[in-house]
Parts: sequence; C-alpha cells; structure tokens
Amino acid sequence: MTQPPQDLRDIVKGTIDGVISFVESEVIPLEQQYRHILENEAKLFGDDGKLVPEIREAREKIRSKSGKAGYWAMFSSESIGGGGLPVPVSIYVQEALYRKYGAGHLLMGWANGFITTPLIASFVDGPSHMFTLASEVIRADVVPSLVAGEKTTCFALTEPDAGSDLWNLKTKARKEGDEWVINGTKQWITNSPYADYAAVFAVTNEEMLAQHKGGTTCFLVDTKQPGVDTSTIFPIIGHVSSDCGSIILEDVRVKDDYILGEVDQGFKLSMMGISEGRLGYAAGCLGLAEWALDRCLEYAKERVTFGRPLADRQAIQWMLADSAIEIFTAKYAALRTAWLVEEYQAEGKVPIKEISIVKAYMMERCQAVCDRAIQIHGGMGLSSELGLEEAFRIARTWRIPDGTSEMQRRTIAARLLRGDAVF
Ligand SMILES: Cc1cc2nc3c(=O)[nH]c(=O)nc-3n(C[C@H](O)[C@H](O)[C@H](O)COP(=O)(O)OP(=O)(O)OC[C@H]3O[C@@H](n4cnc5c(N)ncnc54)[C@H](O)[C@@H]3O)c2cc1C
Repeated sequence: MTQPPQDLRDIVKGTIDGVISFVESEVIPLEQQYRHILENEAKLFGDDGKLVPEIREAREKIRSKSGKAGYWAMFSSESIGGGGLPVPVSIYVQEALYRKYGAGHLLMGWANGFITTPLIASFVDGPSHMFTLASEVIRADVVPSLVAGEKTTCFALTEPDAGSDLWNLKTKARKEGDEWVINGTKQWITNSPYADYAAVFAVTNEEMLAQHKGGTTCFLVDTKQPGVDTSTIFPIIGHVSSDCGSIILEDVRVKDDYILGEVDQGFKLSMMGISEGRLGYAAGCLGLAEWALDRCLEYAKERVTFGRPLADRQAIQWMLADSAIEIFTAKYAALRTAWLVEEYQAEGKVPIKEISIVKAYMMERCQAVCDRAIQIHGGMGLSSELGLEEAFRIARTWRIPDGTSEMQRRTIAARLLRGDAVF
C-alpha cells in the first residue's frame, strides 16, 4: 500500500496544516528577529563552537512550544506518552515541511551542519522507540521531560575506531555492585553539545562481542554528571561548527535502572533507533529534492538565454525529467517501506532490506537532484542566497550518518543472499 486510507489522509492533512501554521506563527518570526545572527556564522557560534545563547534559547523555545502543541513527540510511541502517529504519516509530514521550507532554516534545523530540529523529535535528540524498552525509573524520571521537549537526548554509538564496524567498539562498562562504570570516547554524536542525556552504547561482554553475538549495553547517562566531557564540537562540510561532537566518559557511574533495553543486547536496541532515523532522513531528503525541483521549474521558465527561456531547451528538460523520475521512485519506495514497518511491527520485525534501499537511494538521488538544480541555476545556484548549495551540502552530509551508502548496500546484499529477494 502506498496511499493512506481516508481517515489517515485526514490525519496527514490536519497534521501538515497544523505544523505549517505552527512554523508560520512560532518559528518564522524568530528567524526574522535573529536574521542578523543566523546569516553570519561568525556571530552564530561562540569560541567554544556552541550556538550563541540567543539562538539556543530560540531553539529551546520552539521545542518547548512544539512539545506543548503536541508536535515535538507526535511520532513517538503512545506507550511513552507520544502522539503515536503511524510511520507513513511521518513520511508525508517531513516531505511537506522540507518541500515548503527547503534549506537554510537553522531554527528548524537542517542548515549549518545541523541535523537536529527543535520542531519534531528524532532518534538523535528525542524520545525514540528505544524508550519503549526503558525501565520504570527512566519512564518516571526522564521520559516525560523528553516527550514534553523540555530536555533532549543524544544517540552515542559511533567511536573513533568504530563507525561502520561496530564490532570494534572500545567503550567499556564494568559492573560494581548495582552500578556500572563506563570509560571510552564517542565521536560524531549529533546533539552531544546540548543534550541533557546520552544513550551510550558500551561493551559489557567481550566474548559475545568477539563472536558478533551482541555484548553491548545501552546506558542512559546524565551528561552533567562528573566524568562526562562534551566540549568538543566538529565543524562540518563548509561550516565553522555543527551540532555534532564527541563525548568522553571517564569513570562515569550509572545505576542498573538506567539501562535502556536488556544487558548485552545494545545492538538490537540501536537498530530500533537507526531504522527510525534512516526512514526519517529519507523523507526529509524527499521533500528537499522536491523543493529543489520546484526552484528549477520556476527558474527555467524565468531565465532567458539566447532569446529563449531555459525551459525550452532539451538539455534542461531532461535534467528536470531525471529529477522527477528519481523523486517519484523514491517517494513510493519510502511510502511502501513505511507501510511495511507498520505491518511488520505486530510480529516484532523490521523491513531492514527495504529501509536500506530507501536510505541509500534517497540520499544519493537527493544529492543528484540538488546538483542538477545548481547546474540549472548557473552561478546563482552556487550563491548562498537561494539555499541550493546548502541543500546540496545537507544531502551530501546525509549519505554518511545512520550507515553509509556502502553499508546499506552491504545489508541489502546480505539479505538477498540469504534468500530475501521479495520486492
Ligand atoms: C553529520 C553526522 C552525524 C552523525 N550522528 C551520529 C549520531 O548521532 N550518533 C552516532 O552514534 N553516530 C553518528 N554519526 C556517525 C556515523 O554513523 C558514522 O560516521 C558512519 O557510520 C560511518 O562511520 P565512519 O565515519 O567511522 O566511517 P568508516 O566506517 O571508517 O568508513 C569509511 C568509508 O569506508 C566505507 N567502508 C567501511 N567499511 C566498509 C566495507 N566493509 N566495505 C565497503 N566500504 C566500507 C564506508 O562506507 C565509508 O565510505 C554521525 C556522522 C555524521 C557525519
């Protein structure tokens, strides 16, 4: 199924209308108020690489209002207090938002190397489906503030020597009484400079890890506690900073109650978050590609060369058509996969092959669409005024997190070779 039934179509429309009206009344005025800072990275980031206080406050204000309006956690599970909207709805909503607003909206996210957004929670900053497996203590002490958008979290899996190859994790947790003591370094962690909590994956069973049978556990760490250092932030792809940094953990103590999921089963849990992320970013890419194509359709009709609009030239028409072919294919692959997620959920399964296909295809095609958009706009395409170069950078960035294109292909091939060649 790729089209939602009528009742879901009403939910999709109501949600999109509601979020857009929220953005218009709560976000755009703040973007206008702070335009002088947002447009100048020398003013946007302090010497420590963090956003300056005004912008941090603005983002927190948006998140908290979005929480109250029910948008921040609308895709989180109802069992933890979220809105419980089905996955296909999230595809339509993300698509609509990115298509309307495109690149360059820092206060909503997706600009300046940011992949978090204060508008809608994702698995790298909010109450993801991993929290459905939280202990009673975490549910009582932490989850309500995450659902309300008052606090944020981050997903700390990658390390300096373990990105694609997660069997090489070095961060360790050893048991001491009813506490665990964690030591290690996490790297490339989105939202680490601002998160109140970090979901830290650490090795708890070397033997299981060596046999590729598990052996890691996810601990919810309070980032303000002694031994946690989140001061390093990485500049990303042409920007002077980003929302991505490292987390150094030195003898950090965590109680048993602060384990997410089961001991030694961290990788399985991490896939709940990563799968959510792969589809979410794919939907963002879809909307971003549509936004870029919209800009091309306008410009090709307007821009005249050699006495005729660009739109009359076959070379340009073919670029437009290629982008449309890719967007259409990606959209229906994403929707089909979103419905599969819903169908499989009852059996506790995830359509891993399909999610990997959508992640790899959409990120690569979004970059191709943005590249063509820049080409069609000539010099204007490269100017920061139109936002197309930012869209290209966003699309380029997304090919790395949540598993690179090569890792998606590895997963797809492994599934095919195991006999899953059903499409
Ligand atoms: C903007 C951004 C945000 C991120 N956010 C988070 C986050 O919130 N939390 C988190 O835990 N991590 C995060 N990451 C980390 C991200 O998941 C890793 O960067 C990614 O998994 C790749 O790991 P790596 O950088 O170590 O590259 P490597 O694993 O070293 O790979 C380098 C290159 O080699 C290729 N390669 C590796 N192994 C193979 C193989 N067997 N066969 C063929 N090719 C191979 C890869 O595809 C890649 O092209 C983020 C990264 C970025 C850039």
